[in-house]
Amino acid sequence: MDKEPQKLVLFNTETRTKQPVIPQNGHTIMMYTCGPTVYNFAHIGNFRTYVFEDILRRTIKFFGMGINQVMNLTDIDDKTLKGAIENNTTLKDFTEPFIKSFFEDLDALGIERAEAYPAATNYIDEMIKIIQQLVDNGVAYQGGEGSIYFSIKKFPKYGRLSHLKLDELEAGASDRIAADDYDKEQVSDFVLWKAYDPERDGEIFWDSPFGKGRPGWHIECSAMAMKILGQTIDIHVGGIDNMFPHHENEIAQCEACTGKTFVNHWLHSEHLLVDHKKMSKRLGNFYTLRDLLSKGFTGREVRYSLLQTHYRMQLNFTFQGLEAARNSLDRLDAFIRRVKDVKIEGIFSLVQPIIDRLQGAFASAMADDLNISVALASVFDAIREFNVLLDASKISSEDACKIINVFKSLNSVLGVIIFEEEDFVPQDLQEALESRQRARAEKNWKEADHYRNYILSQGYEIDDTPSGARLKKKR
Ligand SMILES: [Zn+2]
Repeated sequence: MDKEPQKLVLFNTETRTKQPVIPQNGHTIMMYTCGPTVYNFAHIGNFRTYVFEDILRRTIKFFGMGINQVMNLTDIDDKTLKGAIENNTTLKDFTEPFIKSFFEDLDALGIERAEAYPAATNYIDEMIKIIQQLVDNGVAYQGGEGSIYFSIKKFPKYGRLSHLKLDELEAGASDRIAADDYDKEQVSDFVLWKAYDPERDGEIFWDSPFGKGRPGWHIECSAMAMKILGQTIDIHVGGIDNMFPHHENEIAQCEACTGKTFVNHWLHSEHLLVDHKKMSKRLGNFYTLRDLLSKGFTGREVRYSLLQTHYRMQLNFTFQGLEAARNSLDRLDAFIRRVKDVKIEGIFSLVQPIIDRLQGAFASAMADDLNISVALASVFDAIREFNVLLDASKISSEDACKIINVFKSLNSVLGVIIFEEEDFVPQDLQEALESRQRARAEKNWKEADHYRNYILSQGYEIDDTPSGARLKKKR
């Protein structure tokens, strides 16, 4: 009997309830994800969000929906301008290497590419159009020095995402009032177009009907999201620290411009802490992905340690946690190798019930607001059961094939299992391994170490399995 296909249900930050995800067009989810500001290397707090968004993207596909994901590259911002001016170069030349390294980091973490990575610099016209519309609609005004601001008192629904009230915002905003804030009618009004300031902006500006200047950060996302995905999008995602004011402002700009709902479903990932503390350069607990790779961890290990905590819980990052991720992956790898090695004819009836249980448990866990810990537990439970059968030689090669196919399907979500073992080991390394085994048998530890070090230096490591030592490529 066919079961009803499982529905993906996700927590909506705006309504604070779990709601099913249904694409407006019936087949493809339109999803916007706030991307990096490309003025330096992204840190692991950023990557926690990007890995979560990758799991979300993969889960949407796992449940049979299409995805059209946009992630913007913020290349116009106080920090990118400052960097370009300090380095005496153009904005493009300053941001390009950081964009390149961002994509390298995504690859190292096994993050699938989004369908589009628009850069703010290519969407200035779109931003100007929206700002003009907001001025025409009477919700935006020009301040004394020429900047254009959004008047939040003209948008009564302001605050509905972060559940903040306008007077609270005003009180909060006046505590952190900045010099250029005195130009606004109300302190919590936000800038749509920043008037050109030669001292601050150097040679970097764009022409607009409101004068020379540049867009504010919030309008960048609104313009690119609506231009590429449409005026109402299915899902908008970001880190919790972007909810206010950034996402609140995106809603205000879009909805005051179009009169339509901007986003049907909001998702936010929680903070990452390092050793229970907020990550900061001052505390010396600030890590980019590159820092971790240079300590000998792999992108796959970092991915695993970032994905295993539910996205709505704070993630406490530690090196112990990274070691634990390495151990979990070793267990997965060892299991996959073992299953691939099975050479027994026939079919045993014991495998299918475990497969069915695993598939059911994994899918219901992910369908329930991406409950990754339960999903991973179901994987390791199944591995334990399969290992018992393997010990008893009760898994045939045909069973093994089924198991591999199931793990491939689960891995379309997890993205951490490697199936294509590089079986080919160069002859000289194979000989070195045999010499090492001989030396060990003779208790000649020095010589054994010599061969071991040679093997490691060639990018391979020795895996001592119950059926003898073998070589595998280091990952
Ligand atoms: Zn954004």
